[in-house]
Amino acid sequence: MKKIEVKNLTKIFNGKLAINQINFSLKENSILGVLGPNGSGKSTTIGILLGLIKQTSGEIYINDTYINKKNRFKFLNIMNFASPYTELPKRLSVIENLSIYARLYNVKNIKDRLEEIYDYFELYDLLGKKTGELSSGQKTKVALAKALINKPQILLLDEPTASLDPVVADYLKTFIYKYKKKNNISILLSSHNMQEAQTLCDNIMILKKGEVVELGQTNLVLDKYKKKKLEDVYFKIFGEK
Ligand code: ADP
Ligand code: MG
Repeated sequence: MKKIEVKNLTKIFNGKLAINQINFSLKENSILGVLGPNGSGKSTTIGILLGLIKQTSGEIYINDTYINKKNRFKFLNIMNFASPYTELPKRLSVIENLSIYARLYNVKNIKDRLEEIYDYFELYDLLGKKTGELSSGQKTKVALAKALINKPQILLLDEPTASLDPVVADYLKTFIYKYKKKNNISILLSSHNMQEAQTLCDNIMILKKGEVVELGQTNLVLDKYKKKKLEDVYFKIFGEK
């Protein structure tokens, strides 16, 4: 089944095309990488899927249902997201933030789920700290903890490891990989880290100035370019090293 399908999605900001007629789908139990340089339309795509940005035209289907204004909220409980552009309230502690989100998402057995999440991310030392006082690595961990609180079927991650040091980035990459393996979850993940994308993503979509230039299974895209590394495909498309 397709968890998300997007048809002819277009967004024009003040007369300027941010994404132009893009089509893709996110398959069940798979990871789709949305790749491309700054300004290529990754966050706009994710923002539209989350309902934070209104598309200029085009259609979105979630679990094969056409999404409109009325039914959108019904799907929010099966989705979640983490994005550096929507930070958690800074003055609240980690425990307060996660408890509030658990209630917002109507999580059943909140106490058990919170403990499970604290264990997953080894959050016990951070629980009493204000979110605004965390390092960027810790913030990202907490943002990902929040994103999983409702056991989403669909997870949208906007550059989850950008601005992290390599050790934390690797920890999160491994975490996402393991979590996906254990849970039936579909993840759309934007990144400009090609090594990370190659490890994690079953399928990739490469955007260039708001247009889809490659879309398909990661290994098939590599074959097409006769490359072993996605980084080399990226440089082929966006300029040589
Ligand atoms: P990415 O996430 O790939 O870096 P974005 O989706 O943020 O790219 O941006 C795509 C294009 O849309 C860019 O040209 C950017 O300047 C423009 N854009 C994004 N958000 C806005 C906005 N709120 N208002 C005007 N232009 C925007
Ligand atoms: Mg972005």
